[in-house]
Amino acid sequence: MGRKRQLVENLWSKADVRGDDECWNWQGHRSQQGYGVFCITGGARLAHRQALALHQGIEVPPSKVHCLHACDNRACINPKHLRWGSNTENMKDRGERNANYSWIESEEAIFLVRRCLNGETRESVAREAGISVSALRWWVEGRNRPEILQQARKLAAESQTEQLSLF
Ligand SMILES: [Zn+2]
Repeated sequence: MGRKRQLVENLWSKADVRGDDECWNWQGHRSQQGYGVFCITGGARLAHRQALALHQGIEVPPSKVHCLHACDNRACINPKHLRWGSNTENMKDRGERNANYSWIESEEAIFLVRRCLNGETRESVAREAGISVSALRWWVEGRNRPEILQQARKLAAESQTEQLSLF
């Protein structure tokens, strides 16, 4: 109890604790990925994982259980912005919140748009890629990251010329 209480106080004292709706940014050391790092006996721990576990009064789960940020702010340790989830959920979460899908490499996006230009339905392409139909539509219509559509068209035109020259 004594040790645990100490840990709780240390943890919150290293964050900029604000209102429930606001992010509580970690003021201490951060990992390369931008997560708060907390040193306890036995080594360094990720602060947001500690924060959620402490808030819920549980032990920190194994690392395959991810601690997801609803606010997308990795430095935040406000337990109201955190929940446990799988890696798939982690990816899905990022995707759904991030309308730009900037985490998808351009080459992959170009490939997906090309398939749509070739006549595959947006629904099936999006489902297979694990992105939303609306995100795909924005690329196909050139309204988001227009260079993706340009590249896809260019590649499609090139392959068409090749096909035509065969006949
Ligand atoms: Zn937050």
